[in-house]
Amino acid sequence: MNHALETNLKAYNTFGFEYHCKGIIRIFSVEMLQDVLSKNFKPFKILGGGSNVLLTENIDAYILKNEIKGISITQEDEDQILVRVGAGEIWHQFVMWSLSHHLSGLENLSLIPGTVGAAPMQNIGAYGVEQETAFHHLEAVHIETGSIHEFSKEVCQFGYRESIFKNTLKDQYFITHVTYQLYKKPQSLHYSYGAIEEVLNAHNISNPSSNDIAEAIIEIRKSKLPDPKTIGNAGSFFKNPVISKEQFLTLRNTYANLPHYPVSDTSVKIPAAWLIDQLGFKGITRNEVGVHKNQALVLVHYGSGQGQDVRMLAQEIQAKVKSTFNIEITPEVNIW
Ligand code: FAD
Ligand code: NAP
Repeated sequence: MNHALETNLKAYNTFGFEYHCKGIIRIFSVEMLQDVLSKNFKPFKILGGGSNVLLTENIDAYILKNEIKGISITQEDEDQILVRVGAGEIWHQFVMWSLSHHLSGLENLSLIPGTVGAAPMQNIGAYGVEQETAFHHLEAVHIETGSIHEFSKEVCQFGYRESIFKNTLKDQYFITHVTYQLYKKPQSLHYSYGAIEEVLNAHNISNPSSNDIAEAIIEIRKSKLPDPKTIGNAGSFFKNPVISKEQFLTLRNTYANLPHYPVSDTSVKIPAAWLIDQLGFKGITRNEVGVHKNQALVLVHYGSGQGQDVRMLAQEIQAKVKSTFNIEITPEVNIW
């Protein structure tokens, strides 16, 4: 069977790097997953849409490609609905499904690439909302035993681009289904973030619906972010660093216009893109890879480079940010 499996990962990572693995196995159901786990397809790695990974070499492992589909309403009352979604559904298509069913809660997370199963992994977030706001619970198969487990929101330990699955439970579970709690009438709409209000105003919308917000965000994202189909990338390469208020006040003596957002009484978030831009990296190219010309947080691949080139560029940026600002920036992207 093994020799018949596809091995080229180029079409399976949004950076578009061409590396090979032992074989790509598509997983269409929990039963199929349990069957594969009981056979000798080891070692293996799990892949959804490949929009948050950087491949840097051939992978001496099988790839379990999540294709578990299906959207079903499992509970409903006058105000809200619980929707159980197969982890292999495309996230943005699920968001569009929710809006077409007049359900609110996911509008700010429109147009994020990837699968539903990867959304809780790093608690995807955009425009002031993270998936944990609508998250209800998830089901996952324990890789060692093949048993099915349910995880509540509390157990998932969601944080800024973090969850238990990236930390203490790393590589231990295959997420198969995620259940979200969505609202028939919006609980609260968030549109004061970034350029959303500006776009709504330009369209003469003063009292936006969930749909209006989604459309505004789609418009902004399309205008700002490189489409991986055109230029390889995995979105923001680094997380935004959170530093102490004390360090921020010291830095502001030198950089009066340092942008910042309060996280708590004692800490602030600094946009990593600003730090990288200040150092002159925006738009630079090195060996067929580079930093996007409009968004300094996005590292790009122009077509015939190597994953190692992105890794080296990322390390160069990290070192320069550290030596100039004394701030550590860490990758958000999973490096394989
Ligand atoms: P993959 O890249 O396939 O996998 C990511 C990690 O999760 C890997 O470690 C993988 O092993 C693991 N994994 C995947 N599926 C499962 C599963 N079912 N069970 C267990 N482990 C699993 N992210 C944001 O948070 N906000 C944004 O606004 C955003 N914008 C983006 C814009 C662009 C243009 C791009 C390219 C990326 C962007 N991202 C953003 C990053 C990315 O879209 C998300 O992290 C997304 O959730 C990744 O989904 P995926 O299916 O592609 O995951
Ligand atoms: P932006 O609006 O230009 O803002 C730059 C940075 O400042 C963002 O990283 C954001 O942090 C922060 N920020 C802006 N307004 C804020 C506010 N009112 N409160 C708190 N923080 C604020 O960013 P962008 O690059 O166009 O991205 C827009 C949104 O999409 C952001 O939320 C971003 O995280 C998300 N996005 C994520 C990825 C990814 O791969 N992870 C890729 C593209 C876009 P936050 O990032 O913490 O929100």
